[in-house]
Order: sequence, then structure tokens, then C-alpha cells
Amino acid sequence: RSTYSPEEFRRCFPLFQQAENRGLVYLDNAATTQRPAAVIDAIADFYRRNNANTHRSSHRLARRATEMVEQTRAQAAAFLNAHSSRELVFCRGATEALNLLANSLCVGLRPGDEIVLSTIEHHANLVPWQMMAERYRLKLRYVPHTAGVPQFDRLGEVLNERTRIVSLTGGSNALGLRPDLSAVAAQLRDRSLHWIVDGSQLAAHEVVDVQAIGCDFFVCSAHKFYGPTGVGLLYGREALLAEMPPWQGGGEMIAEVGLYHSEYADLPHKFEAGTSPLGALAGLNAAFAFLQGQDRNAMAAHEQELVQRLHRELTQLPHLRLLSQPQHNLGIVAFAPVDAAPADLAHWLDGRDIAVRVGHHCAQPLIQAAGEGATVRASVAGYTTWQDCEAFLDAVREFQRIDASKQPVGSDSGDWQ
Ligand code: PMP
Repeated sequence: RSTYSPEEFRRCFPLFQQAENRGLVYLDNAATTQRPAAVIDAIADFYRRNNANTHRSSHRLARRATEMVEQTRAQAAAFLNAHSSRELVFCRGATEALNLLANSLCVGLRPGDEIVLSTIEHHANLVPWQMMAERYRLKLRYVPHTAGVPQFDRLGEVLNERTRIVSLTGGSNALGLRPDLSAVAAQLRDRSLHWIVDGSQLAAHEVVDVQAIGCDFFVCSAHKFYGPTGVGLLYGREALLAEMPPWQGGGEMIAEVGLYHSEYADLPHKFEAGTSPLGALAGLNAAFAFLQGQDRNAMAAHEQELVQRLHRELTQLPHLRLLSQPQHNLGIVAFAPVDAAPADLAHWLDGRDIAVRVGHHCAQPLIQAAGEGATVRASVAGYTTWQDCEAFLDAVREFQRIDASKQPVGSDSGDWQ
């Protein structure tokens, strides 16, 4: 049994110490985690003491800002176990990173070339590819699925000599499902295509090693792993990034600009047009240091225990359709009440200061294929306690009791999964 203490971890987060949040049960971590004091302070500190733009100006503060950005980049490379800092591009988030990849990698593709996605992807890993498919007349193909849940072991069935890009989740934000990336890698081996992992949820819950995964690109957002909003990481193999055209043009990404032609800066700066989100990068720097001080494997084990127990308890409740599975799950339970609107349940929980997410979770194709309009999603983080989960379960049970007394249920409605 783990000696990890979620209570101790929670004390690092000022939001939970505020009088108005003392009773808060925060189970919306898949949308965004909270920030520890170290991150909040680093952001304030940057603006209070060190604020200056990077690179261009040669003065003390500008130098310090530049050093901070490059040190953060080195930490980001270490966080993902990239080979070099040149493989790390800062973006506004996973969404921007995926848009960069779509816009840059699809240049030069021929009509009829294929991109493989899955039905469980976040909209950020669907819409940019749809836009490119329309622009370049590319074909989108999907990993075979059952009711929207991809069968990643059948990925090989949708690969062929026209497949150029395979962009798949490293963990679903709607169901928590974590594909077996080594099985995905085995099916992609020896094929000349680009493999992208959307690691937005994965990076929050597991120690990531992009070299061990063997992917070509990996994206994630800092705000999912206790860092600030407005900054994301794009990892790409150096040789691939080097040959890709930049997506956005502007200052900071050039070596030399003429009236009709420009030379681009070296990696990774050629992909970072304009002023970077410096306060957020200072916060990210602190987030990496903060995470280094944690036992992340013990934290992951704690989260696993919570999600297993939550599933066990929820399967005991009648009139709930559980869409998530406890196996290979990154800390999410997703379900729909059988006889009530998911929004009503979420509203009920909110009334008890229990924060969950309701809706399609930016995964509309999946939710629709599952035959639902919306689900309720509860997602855990390192500071989530079993007490939080119990408060949530009690409130769901209470909702069901009251709901059942309002509308008597027929004998065939106890169809649980
Ligand atoms: N992919 C997944 C799996 C996500 O969970 C999210 C955030 N919900 C994104 C992409 C997009 O991240 P962001 O909104 O931070 O750009």
C-alpha cells in the first residue's frame, strides 16, 4: 500500500485553502488541474521583478528572461525525456501544437494521401486534420471501433501505402482510456509515416518518455499537469522538425528578413513566432521543479486506486450507464444517468459544491457513437482524496433516490454496465 499523502500534496495548492473553497470537491481535473503556490508565485515574480522581452534587447532583464525560457525548455526536454532541447517547441497549448503539426506536415501531401485518427480523439486532434483534408483533398481514416471505442490492436487494418500521418491519443479525456502505446508502436514499425501522440491527459498522470514510446511527435498542455494555462509542449524528432516548414511567421522565428524572402531561425525558434507567454513559461519552469519534488509513481498509484474504487462503487448503482472502464484508465469515470438528464445530475452536484464536467467533453463523435448526448465526467488528480470520491458518490446516490421517488422506474431499467 502506498504511503503517498494526497492531503499533504493538497496543501501546496492555495485554491483549496481559501475559505470559500474549503468544502469544494474538485473532480474536474481532466479539464484543468489546480496550480500550486510555487507556480502562482513564479508567475507573479516574473512580472514583479524580472519582466522583459527575450532575445532582442540586450540588457540585464532581457538576458534573464531569455535564460529563463531556455532553462524551461531544457526542463521540458527532461520532462518528456527528449534527446535535446532543440526538439521542444513552446505553443499556446496542445491545441496549437496540433494545429502547427497539421499545417506543417500536410504541406506537400498529395490528394488521396491518408491520415489515421481514432473516434476517441479530442476535437483538437480532429478538427485541424479535417481542415487539412479539405484543403489538400486528403482522406481521413479511423481505427476500427465498437460504439466509438477504438480497437487500437486493429490499427494495422487502416494502414496502407497512402498513410502519411497517424495521430492518436495517449489517453482519452472523455473516458480516461489509455491505449497500449507499445502495441501501437509495433503496428507502425517500419512504415514511412509520422506518428503523433496527443499526450494531453497522459502527461498529467504518468512519467512520459518519448524515446521509449518511439513516437515522432508528442503534444501536451501545461495546465493539465499543475502548470499555467497558455503554454503547451510540442516534442518532435529533431530531423523531422528541421525539414518541416514553419506554420506561423513573424518576429523571433527568423534569421534574416528581406522584402520578398526570409530565412528562418534554427530549431526550435523557427516554430515560435512572436513574443512567448513569458509569465506562463516562468510558471511552467516552477511546475517542473515542483513535479520533480513529487513521487510521481506513488501519485499515479494513488490515482489508480481512486479510479478503481470509483468504478467499483458506480457499478453498484442502478440506473447509471457507465461508459468508462477501470482498466487502462488515466483517472476518469464517465457515465450517464439512465432516467435523468446528465446536466441535472451535474447541477445537483454543483449545488453540493462538487465540481464535475457534463457534456460531450470535446469528443462529440465518441459520445454520439456511444448513443449518448452527454455524459457526467469525474476526474481525479494527485490531491484527490477518497473522502472527495465518497462525497461525490453519496451525492449521486442521493440524486438517484430523489429522482427515483419522482419517477418510478420499470423492472427492466436496471440495465447496468
Ligand atoms: N487533447 C486532449 C486529450 C485534451 O484533453 C485536451 C484538453 N481538454 C486537448 C487535447 C486540448 O488541450 P488545450 O485545450 O489545452 O489546448
